[in-house]
Amino acid sequence: MQRKRFIAGAVCPQCRAQDTLAVGQEDHVDVVTCVKCGYRQCQSDPPPAAPERQGEHIIGIFHPD
Ligand SMILES: [Zn+2]
Repeated sequence: MQRKRFIAGAVCPQCRAQDTLAVGQEDHVDVVTCVKCGYRQCQSDPPPAAPERQGEHIIGIFHPD
């Protein structure tokens, strides 16, 4: 059921492979996963104590560094 969107040109910060990073959704949070090494990175970390922020739209911008 889950669809993943691969990030063109993105390089995994862990295994340095290119075009292996995909964005999926877990609990309404975009999570980037590397299909090669299993690296995971949450795109946002909304604090549980601030429910008023849940109205913000997460667009899942990813900046490989
Ligand atoms: Zn990787």
